[in-house]
Amino acid sequence: MISVEEARELILSKVSGLDCQEVPLVESLGCVLAEDVTTDGDISPFDNSGMDGFALLSSDVEDASEQSPVRLRIMAHIGAGYTYDDTVTSGQAVRIMTGAATPSGIDAVEKIENVTFTGEGTVGDELIISKPVKQAQNVRFSGEEAKAGEVVMRAGQTILPAGMGLLSSAGRGTVKVYRRPHVGVIALGSELMDPTDRLLPGKLRDSNSYALAGQALAAGCTVTRYGRVDDDPELISAALAKAVDECDFVVTSGGASAGDYDFITQVAGDLGEVLFKYVNMRPGKSQTFAVIDGTPFVGLAGNPSAAAVGFEMLVRPALLKMQGHAALLRPTQKAILGQGLRRGNSRRQYLRGTIARDGQGRLVATPAGKQSSALLGALVHGNCLIIIPANSGALDEGAPVECIRLDVGEGVFI
Ligand code: AMP
Ligand code: MG
Repeated sequence: MISVEEARELILSKVSGLDCQEVPLVESLGCVLAEDVTTDGDISPFDNSGMDGFALLSSDVEDASEQSPVRLRIMAHIGAGYTYDDTVTSGQAVRIMTGAATPSGIDAVEKIENVTFTGEGTVGDELIISKPVKQAQNVRFSGEEAKAGEVVMRAGQTILPAGMGLLSSAGRGTVKVYRRPHVGVIALGSELMDPTDRLLPGKLRDSNSYALAGQALAAGCTVTRYGRVDDDPELISAALAKAVDECDFVVTSGGASAGDYDFITQVAGDLGEVLFKYVNMRPGKSQTFAVIDGTPFVGLAGNPSAAAVGFEMLVRPALLKMQGHAALLRPTQKAILGQGLRRGNSRRQYLRGTIARDGQGRLVATPAGKQSSALLGALVHGNCLIIIPANSGALDEGAPVECIRLDVGEGVFI
């Protein structure tokens, strides 16, 4: 039985970054850039107003006061998307809205709340300014974000929502990214039925293929659910052979331990090379890792939280590596136990827990519900895995523990 770290390293050693592809910008969220992106023009492309107000020459109003206000003739009225193509000269002003290009000649914008005017304050009316306006006030200059030809994002950076916006500003409708792995998910078990099937005696709903598909999607992958397969070696073999042929990574759940109807290790061995079948962790001892025709395959345990924790600890890092991510591990946090634990286990345990600050600002980790590996509730309601070392004895409330934050992305500083 190998350690979680050894198992993870072994899987990671068998995967590498997938090929790169050009994808529509709108589909790039979460992907790793495979190119440095330069902007084809200044961002923003022109000097523009930062306020709704009046563009003017600051030198015209440097002596303006309540006692002797300065009057300027309003030459134009421009909204965002429009321009005033004449040069504004001394004694003139232009009514301008936020984002509209500032006309040549002006060097400041005074916001509308600070001025008065004759009439409606539009073309032909007079603007009345009763205090000076600083040079450059409320003017946003072209290229403030980046100059034409400048790199706005680098290869290796993950594209987040703001990045999608910046790439768009740089003129990109598509970007070159590492391809998302296509993950195949198969649920093994003759007892399984679909969620909307009328349950027959002895059967239960397949939750794993949905939870695992969700985990693959959350890891940035695309997914095919191959549905349920009965505990029959030939059916399992056929389904697995098809999935490894069509996918970049395949996971199954169930049939992974030593029961009479557990066939996945044997089938994986017939189709490819099995590299481990037990990992020193709880939940999730029985996990088969094989490489089949070059495709990595993990046969996760059947119990729902065991399958989910196994995916989180062993499969997710590999899927991130395949997408070119450098950070592969979730951040961990030290906390104190919110309740005593009766005894440890000979295997390392990952309790499904909640980590939060108490009234004194201390981080406290507490099991988030029943810890049976058959149950998902504690994962649903919690936000971390509380690591209990192998062979630990009873732990008192307040004992120090380390937690893996499931609600925080890899590489995030907490
Ligand atoms: P196994 O590893 O096949 O012995 O399954 C262990 C436990 O997990 C059994 O109680 C199964 O019924 C249950 N189980 C296996 N696969 C699933 C699944 N896809 N959804 C829900 N429970 C499952
Ligand atoms: Mg089974």
